[in-house]
Amino acid sequence: MLLRHTPKEIKERKVLSVNPAKTCQPIGAMYAGLGIHGCLPHSHGSQGCCAYHRSALTRHYREPIMAATSSFTEGASVFGGQANLLQALLTIFTTYKPDVVAVHTTCLSETIGDDVNQIVKKAYKDGTIPEGKYVVHTSTPSYVGSHVTGFSNMVKSMALQLAEKTGKSNGKVNIVPGFVEPSDMAEMKRIAAMLGIESILFPDTSGILNGPMTGKFNMYPKGGVSIEELKSIGDSIGSIGLGAWASADPVRAIDSQFKVPCQVQDLPIGLLATDRFVDALRTAAGVSVPDTINQERGQLLDVISDMQPHLYGKKVAIAGDPDQVIALTEFLVTIGMKPVHIVTGTPGKAFTKRIKEVTARFGDEINVKSPSDLFHLHQLIKNEPVDLLICNTYGKYIARDEDIPFVRHGFPILDRVGHSYFPTVGYKGGLHFLEKILGALMDRTDRDAPEERFELVE
Ligand code: SF4
Repeated sequence: MLLRHTPKEIKERKVLSVNPAKTCQPIGAMYAGLGIHGCLPHSHGSQGCCAYHRSALTRHYREPIMAATSSFTEGASVFGGQANLLQALLTIFTTYKPDVVAVHTTCLSETIGDDVNQIVKKAYKDGTIPEGKYVVHTSTPSYVGSHVTGFSNMVKSMALQLAEKTGKSNGKVNIVPGFVEPSDMAEMKRIAAMLGIESILFPDTSGILNGPMTGKFNMYPKGGVSIEELKSIGDSIGSIGLGAWASADPVRAIDSQFKVPCQVQDLPIGLLATDRFVDALRTAAGVSVPDTINQERGQLLDVISDMQPHLYGKKVAIAGDPDQVIALTEFLVTIGMKPVHIVTGTPGKAFTKRIKEVTARFGDEINVKSPSDLFHLHQLIKNEPVDLLICNTYGKYIARDEDIPFVRHGFPILDRVGHSYFPTVGYKGGLHFLEKILGALMDRTDRDAPEERFELVE
């Protein structure tokens, strides 16, 4: 029992966090920066943060993660990191030759109050940033929010700092995909293309963090949103932000700065949220939904109805990022399951309200907490056992101790592959996710069945 010290009795904790269900802002900003073509993310702080964030992303994606750091010393921590950042930009553009550097901060540079905006302006003025190259920057204090907040901050900054409004419509729809897998981003673009819509999806890590092995290292792989695309988002006909925590701020900022009307939707995980995403695309671009999309929807519906005996009434515990957890919870309710314990580590009052809305049919039987941690989730499970746990890799300790079927979902997944290649969003992604849930539940049925009930056909 790896977590044998977790007691069943739940006591209110105010200051102690155990096994958090979140990490800090800069890693989200680093991930967002990687979704621009030819971009090198840069961490303005001491180098430990950058090393940790690169290694966490490398373990999740099993790809090389490139990022630079200002490598603060004690001196910079006292007198400010301007010299470090200027020297870093000079070295980066001379040695690594990116098209753009995406600078985020750490808790150290935030606490001492470095004015990164002023430093970057100086770098442009002094010619440290070569002609035709760009530096975008954002503030990512790790003591506010979570990695999702960092993602949102970087996406908002890349939009506001690079976009220009020419006044001539490009006829495209902006999509901010949220903190999702490269496979999910590719699926969102595919759905837009099926509707005949030209989209600018940003950031876009598809092709960058799930690219092919070619035998040659490429520091800036094919893929990512281009600078030209980012420049033109102010001329788009609409923006859709997927996931309120990750994407609402960027699309609202684009709306107020460039008058591009925006819609904020849940992540399109499952039947209903995908319906809303397709409808948002349809209304933004004024197109109709083709039969190919209806066909995919019908396939998902077919499997949901075929497999009801295995799904109906099964209790589920879920932990993860708020946008993901909200969409997953709604999907589970739609397919007849019963999410009973739901936690996120990312703060935000709207989380509980939205979970209550999507689980309204169960009334007060649902335990939902934000912000919370996996220690609390484990205690909830001890008090009311579940049939399935959905969580990132850190949930495997709970799943093992409590002997619960386990589906890995979210960030990070350190002990399995597939997440970067197979989407969870859209009807196809819903089908894939459903297959994973059914696989976990039916494997358990087989494992526990006595020989006379060990069925060939389920
Ligand atoms: S919490 Fe602060 S010191 Fe720790 S990794 Fe995040 S930014 Fe760095």
